[in-house]
Amino acid sequence: MTVTYEVDASGRETVGLKERRGKRYSICGPDVKHHECDRIRIRSANWHLTTKCNYNCKFCFSRKLDAEIKNLKIAEEVLKKLVDIGIEKINFAGGEPLLHPLFLPIIRMAKDMMFAVSIISNGYYLNRDTISKLSPYVDWIGLSVDSTYEEVEVALGRGNGNHVKHITAIADIVHCTGVKLKINTTVTRMNYAENMRPLLKKLMPERWKAFQVLHITGQNDRYFNELSITDKEFDYFKSINQDCIEEMGPVFERNTDMIDSYFMLSPRGMVMSNRNGNYSLTPLDNIDEQTISQLLDVRKYAERGGIYPW
Ligand code: SF4
Repeated sequence: MTVTYEVDASGRETVGLKERRGKRYSICGPDVKHHECDRIRIRSANWHLTTKCNYNCKFCFSRKLDAEIKNLKIAEEVLKKLVDIGIEKINFAGGEPLLHPLFLPIIRMAKDMMFAVSIISNGYYLNRDTISKLSPYVDWIGLSVDSTYEEVEVALGRGNGNHVKHITAIADIVHCTGVKLKINTTVTRMNYAENMRPLLKKLMPERWKAFQVLHITGQNDRYFNELSITDKEFDYFKSINQDCIEEMGPVFERNTDMIDSYFMLSPRGMVMSNRNGNYSLTPLDNIDEQTISQLLDVRKYAERGGIYPW
């Protein structure tokens, strides 16, 4: 792959061209906002590698999906297809992605194909050793934490009372490796009034995303009424947390921002769409650069900050 940035009069790198597998794509330079790009298109994907997880978060919307892939040949086909439709960044999610038996070879393969690679994990299986094994192949490690208080995490089903302490220790280790850190927070009735700034200042992520808890029919029906919050309550969470220092790049996503704006793959590699509040599946082979823009709301994808210097 070759990357060439055009340079403006002040010497700043702007929109450039990336060449990969014989195709040329426009990309953003490090200082360029998405709306300055010459055209907007979906550039990133989330692959939910597995539904297995050691935790039982009440809001989880990815525990009842199809079966995970069992060999690297299929992983390779999925990743090649993603390259062909112009995907540049891939986020491996779950379930807990570290529980997929082929997790390490798959992320290695993704890195070999020149993807920007990120993972989102509950952190349980991360330690100094696993992080040093992952660090050559991942650009971002995302950790999920929803509260400063262990008792809130326990009530949500995330861990047994040591989650916040563990995530804080893991964040330190991630910083030492030079891998970028992202934090994901799900905002529910249990934490929408919480000031999370002190915790975030301790964790010091390069990016922080807070999501309004989202109902997906058939996934998280059981506890949704107990956890759901209104847009107004989510905006209250935002108002008390939005002045986290700029470097953390806080992003707050309401339900409406999330619906239709994520390019998601199921464990088996099918495209998952959540347009109607439940998942519908489309074979990846049916998708090309044109149909991807019909399946998703590209403008919404750009507006929620789907493109950033990764
Ligand atoms: S840690 Fe993630 S995958 Fe596991 S139950 Fe919680 S939200 Fe779901």
